Amino acid sequence: RVEDNGTFHGYKKDPYHVLWIENYVGKTRMKVAYKVKSLLHYEQSAFQEISVVETKGFGRMLVLDGIPQVSTNEGFIYNEMISHIPIVTHPDPKNVGMIGGGDCGHAREAMKYKSIEKIDVVEIDERVTSVCRKWLTPEEDFKSDKQFQMIHQDGYEWIQKQKNSYDVLMIDRPDPVGPGKKLFSSDFYQYVYDALSEDGVVTFQSGSPFYNESILKKTRYKLKKLFPIVRTYILTIPLFPCGIWSFTMASKKPDPLEADLTKLMDKDTNYINPEIFTSSFTLPNYIRNML
Ligand code: SAM
Repeated sequence: RVEDNGTFHGYKKDPYHVLWIENYVGKTRMKVAYKVKSLLHYEQSAFQEISVVETKGFGRMLVLDGIPQVSTNEGFIYNEMISHIPIVTHPDPKNVGMIGGGDCGHAREAMKYKSIEKIDVVEIDERVTSVCRKWLTPEEDFKSDKQFQMIHQDGYEWIQKQKNSYDVLMIDRPDPVGPGKKLFSSDFYQYVYDALSEDGVVTFQSGSPFYNESILKKTRYKLKKLFPIVRTYILTIPLFPCGIWSFTMASKKPDPLEADLTKLMDKDTNYINPEIFTSSFTLPNYIRNML
């Protein structure tokens, strides 16, 4: 853990940021250690403990309540996969909204689609945004963009006021603890459905298929009650324990398996391409059987 006086537990000469993953599903207990070169920022905000550390290998890393969230060296994987897949699936997205994800990496990806007219990011913690702007994602990336708007509000409250207004939503929620817990409740899924336009699509961060089995299953179960199309896709995130992660997409009409993948061709991406788009929906048998 990173202490508030800026010292680290662990070996003095070889400090590690030590993350304990305690699996509430009860199957896996593991300890992951990230080598920290220096602590760049630490604070306790109104919502959570926010740290930014310089690591060996991952570059700069955002840590919330002791849990690594995103790093400068591999954050493109998470951000590209949560954003391009629903955007490309929708035939003509104009209004795009994101709940969570203060570093706004997903918004930066959405800005690559000039036909999108509005990009709203709803992040509960203003401090996450400010800290990320200083240490992770430069302000210049967002300043000139007319499409982009940052809203500092609880996404659970905000979504209830949106009706039939977003073509694409991304739910970049953390683990179901703290302020993010409400983003896993049954009524939240209904609010998301109501906020989407008639051919709207949404992607949820749905946990690791290996050690968050119940998160993934519950997400799909709740979405299937509302949406005709629900598809889980997988990706590899080096920063997260076990590496394998899932997002689950739900759609009122467009099917990602019929998406026009030529829209990806000129987007200057580092992870996603048409083949990755298609193959990420192909699930290994252990996940198929689980679902
Ligand atoms: N991929 C993300 C990133 O790039 O920063 C990781 C961020 S983490 C998954 C989730 C974010 O959701 C955090 O920044 C947290 O402050 C925010 N959050 C948690 N609960 C929220 C809520 N109820 N409404 C809006 N944002 C929330």
